[in-house]
Amino acid sequence: MALKEKREVEIEKYYSHCDSTKSFYIKFLDGKPIEYQAGQFLIAHIPRGDEIVKRAYSIASSPLETLETGLIEICLNRVELGYVSNWMHDKGHKTRIQVDGPHGRFIVPEESNDHLIFCGTGTGISPIRGILKDFELKNTLKDKEIWLFFGVRQEADILYHQEFQQWAEQYPDFHFIPSVSRPLEWKGETGYVQNLVKKYVHTSNQWNVYACGLNAMIKDLEGVLLEMGFDKNQLHYDKWG
Ligand SMILES: Cc1cc2nc3c(=O)[nH]c(=O)nc-3n(C[C@H](O)[C@H](O)[C@H](O)COP(=O)(O)OP(=O)(O)OC[C@H]3O[C@@H](n4cnc5c(N)ncnc54)[C@H](O)[C@@H]3O)c2cc1C
Repeated sequence: MALKEKREVEIEKYYSHCDSTKSFYIKFLDGKPIEYQAGQFLIAHIPRGDEIVKRAYSIASSPLETLETGLIEICLNRVELGYVSNWMHDKGHKTRIQVDGPHGRFIVPEESNDHLIFCGTGTGISPIRGILKDFELKNTLKDKEIWLFFGVRQEADILYHQEFQQWAEQYPDFHFIPSVSRPLEWKGETGYVQNLVKKYVHTSNQWNVYACGLNAMIKDLEGVLLEMGFDKNQLHYDKWG
């Protein structure tokens, strides 16, 4: 049963990926099971003076990880002048908040045999990581041809870098293309994810595309994909506004 009522959670622990981004591992305090599908999101309810503000956060864990640990991972970056993102980073460990969910349809159907292209920018990689981890734990990552394009500003911002790199080494059909827009030492790709899709993927047949991040990236990506001959029903987005 999908639980939509507000429930209290505690931040059990966190992991700092880099200066501006942390994964928070949250534990539900009512002891009820937490059921969700990889790629969905929760809504956090955060106090601000006398009011409550709500923000959506994608789930970065796989349901199978949650089954084992009892924890759900969300991965947040500090947004300049943003309220909730900074509140979460400043409060951190053992803080209690209310959440509802799961919500959203950014889900890869279980039975899908299509090849998959994933495009994420910044923390837009979160639901994608949840989906890919789910494939890995279900032992289906090896069966799919997957291209993962991940755009960030600096090399240190490549979240889950080691994990993605390891999958690329382990699974011949898993291709990981990180791109750094403001490189310091970086010798890899530096372009926008939409241009990288065009560079590496040469046919629109049999692919489904899952992209997550800010509207501007999604809009540009869609333009490129339609130009390449993709049909709108091959494209699936989680737009963050
Ligand atoms: C379905 C969905 C899933 C999401 N999942 C995640 C997630 O997994 N991780 C995550 O970090 N965020 C995620 N977001 C974004 C998140 O909900 C908040 O918008 C973000 O944390 C900023 O909230 P805030 O209260 O800190 O900023 P606000 O106080 O709302 O905004 C402050 C200022 O920052 C600008 N702004 C707001 N959001 C962004 C942004 N993301 N980038 C740049 N400028 C911005 C606003 O225009 C405003 O000027 C998701 C959004 C949606 C819709």
